[in-house]
Amino acid sequence: MHYLDPEQSVYSFSKNHQPQLTINSGEKVVFRTFDCFTNQVTSEADLVTTLDFSKVNPATGPVFIEEAMPGNVLKVEIHDIKVRDWGVICTLPDIGVLKHRAETQTKIVAIEHSQTVHFSEDILLPAVPMIGVIGCAPAGDEIPCGYSGDHGGNMDNHIITRGSTVYLPVHVPGALFALGDIHASMGDGEICGTGVETAAEVKTTISVLKGVTLPRPFVETEKNWYTVASGDNLQEAIRKASEDMQDLLVKNWDLSATDAFLLMSVAGDVQICQCCAAIDVIARFRMPKLESLPRLI
Ligand code: CA
Ligand code: ZN
Repeated sequence: MHYLDPEQSVYSFSKNHQPQLTINSGEKVVFRTFDCFTNQVTSEADLVTTLDFSKVNPATGPVFIEEAMPGNVLKVEIHDIKVRDWGVICTLPDIGVLKHRAETQTKIVAIEHSQTVHFSEDILLPAVPMIGVIGCAPAGDEIPCGYSGDHGGNMDNHIITRGSTVYLPVHVPGALFALGDIHASMGDGEICGTGVETAAEVKTTISVLKGVTLPRPFVETEKNWYTVASGDNLQEAIRKASEDMQDLLVKNWDLSATDAFLLMSVAGDVQICQCCAAIDVIARFRMPKLESLPRLI
């Protein structure tokens, strides 16, 4: 078992970052993470407007995986996510679906045993810890951790949780994988711009798959397959995620492109990961693991 500490983190995905850890395919790594503000918020008096924004969205890593080469797929199994006993929820002046109807505010909430979020004395909700930022270095210029793309990044996809497996395209030798921005709870869309932001410990197994390629991130849960795509607008993100799923169904379920389209329409779902920021929108396409049909990866 390898351990990485929060201080071993980066603020972008880049082929030029020095690895914090080198492993072989199939090894287990525990990522200890800061919260998305690098723990700068410690009380409700700390508004986001007072923070150093060069220190937002850290990702712990990167990890260099010996066998990983461009064109491979990195398989990351999420075994467990333990979160801190408190989290931060806040509004940001320029971000969020209801920003025109909100004050800039910071709310600190208690999180009990990684299981229950105390939104207020009366409002308790289940904690379902998830990973906001997860990805590999892109082939080209560095991409700040606040952005998403074909490399992964800030996808804010709440199905990336305990028990999920994330598959990412490898673009550079070693993959240079990192993750961070854990939320104790977050709804689809992340409409105010934050989940319950918290520090965490994420237990993973990281493996390299040869002989398979993916254009963009892909996620497996117990019952579903998900393609994930970001775009400049919602239509673009939905189109890319749907095309990726169609391609996988044509290849693995022996369907024509049109039949795959029909099946996706009657059995699958378009879902929104994140739509709070002006910079990008992330969507996913959910396809259930239909009985007797082969795996998609
Ligand atoms: Ca995020
Ligand atoms: Zn976050």
